[in-house]
Amino acid sequence: MMEHILDARNKQPTLLAGEWVGAASDEWFEDIDPADTRKIVALLPRLSGDQVAAAIETADRNGGVWAGAPAIDRGRVLLEAARLIRERVDDIATDVRREAGKLQAEAKGEVLKSADFLEYYGGLGRLAQGAVLPDERPGTFTHTLVEPLGVVLLITAWNDPILTPARKIGPALIAGNSVVIKPAEDTPLSALHLARALIDAGLPATALSVVVGHPEDVGEPLLGHPAIKAVSFTGSTRTGRLLRTRLSDRNVRFQAEMGGKNAVVVLPDADLETASAVITAGAFAQAGQRCTATSRVIAVGDTSRLNEALIGRAREIRVGPGWDQDSQMGPLINPVRLEEVSADVQEARDRGDRVLWGGERARGEKVDHGCFFSPTVIAVDSSLSPLWQKEVFGPVLAVASAPNVDAAVKGVNDSSYGLSAAVFTRDLAMAMEFVRRVDTGQVAVNRPTSGWDVHLPFGGFKESGSWSKEQGLEGIDFYTRVKTVAIGYDS
Ligand code: ADP
Repeated sequence: MMEHILDARNKQPTLLAGEWVGAASDEWFEDIDPADTRKIVALLPRLSGDQVAAAIETADRNGGVWAGAPAIDRGRVLLEAARLIRERVDDIATDVRREAGKLQAEAKGEVLKSADFLEYYGGLGRLAQGAVLPDERPGTFTHTLVEPLGVVLLITAWNDPILTPARKIGPALIAGNSVVIKPAEDTPLSALHLARALIDAGLPATALSVVVGHPEDVGEPLLGHPAIKAVSFTGSTRTGRLLRTRLSDRNVRFQAEMGGKNAVVVLPDADLETASAVITAGAFAQAGQRCTATSRVIAVGDTSRLNEALIGRAREIRVGPGWDQDSQMGPLINPVRLEEVSADVQEARDRGDRVLWGGERARGEKVDHGCFFSPTVIAVDSSLSPLWQKEVFGPVLAVASAPNVDAAVKGVNDSSYGLSAAVFTRDLAMAMEFVRRVDTGQVAVNRPTSGWDVHLPFGGFKESGSWSKEQGLEGIDFYTRVKTVAIGYDS
């Protein structure tokens, strides 16, 4: 299987319906290292609409091979792929680090969690499916069958370039669907590693295609194809809304994981050491580029001690490239995002918010050619600041105060998003009240807004998500349909 490895000019073919292919036109697009934008990590094929359509049609025609395999055997393929990913973890993590700008340790953690997803869903090949139901008619055996949908399309973002594909591919494949995945144009190699592990583990080649590329090249050929039965999307709220509208005139299932503006409330009785450590880790890991990143803090009562603690921790963070063991926070994904984050902070400044730490591009020999932004803490007026509402998707933490718990809960819910929230307190009654009242899909008490394990249902409310959760047992529902069967056996 050497033909799919990068060639001397860094050309990386992609996997379309079982074959590693270049572009029909022989045009290639660049995959750039955000830690040093002079470096091209790889060149990927610019696929044509015909290539995309052919891959979907091959998957559709051959879907029965995978769908017809016993679920336990499908599970074995996922389990073997998980094992291969663990075996290859260092190589894969290096590519994740190079194209996504993560620290090597962050990349390694992501790769291992991707293996966890495949392992979890692989094990579910042995899950009891369907139900036996009572029927009023004598001599009638009535039950439900749980079936795959057919060809499903997965569209993923760059910030967790192998984890997000694994979160979707696991349930889609164990349910017996064929998968066409479109990874983000900034990070195509990571998804290709996942595909390689699945194919090497014995997945029928036509059950998985990786449509690399920019939306303007491949978006329409994917979304418009009549064989696509469901679309699961992770990315910005703007694009999620666009896709929802685009698909609304057809009976195509749509699942979305979109933005967040996740708040942590710190009550006066909280342990500030713990709270500030968890908040800064939640805000600055992956340079804040996580949908569950902590981006707002509400201190009930006086903010000065908490602010001091947050500044103290932000000041200690060493910004630098992921290959450097010394680095504690990597770059933003690309120069456009660097400009946008800088502009968001400038706008907040102009509106009167007070930058307590950071607030500008990081400078220095190791970072000058990359997209590095300093860890930033800003004291804001929550009723006026643009930072209170807008998802910045960078290392920017907005801190406000509230006079009491009631106002703090209102502050958390004062958002079009509803992904994740947390409260720090030792008062269990307060904590339970918080859990009940906040309008978010995930709520934590004395724990971070991020970091939800593979078997925990995950998904946001309001403009952060759609009706169905990912992960856990719930994650399979989106990829299956239920057929109700009545068998009369007395005639
Ligand atoms: P971001 O703004 O953070 O880069 P996006 O939501 O634009 O995130 O992108 C998430 C994923 O959605 C990527 O794979 C991207 O290529 C894809 N995407 C963006 N626009 C479209 C579109 N019009 N059609 C299909 N896919 C799209």
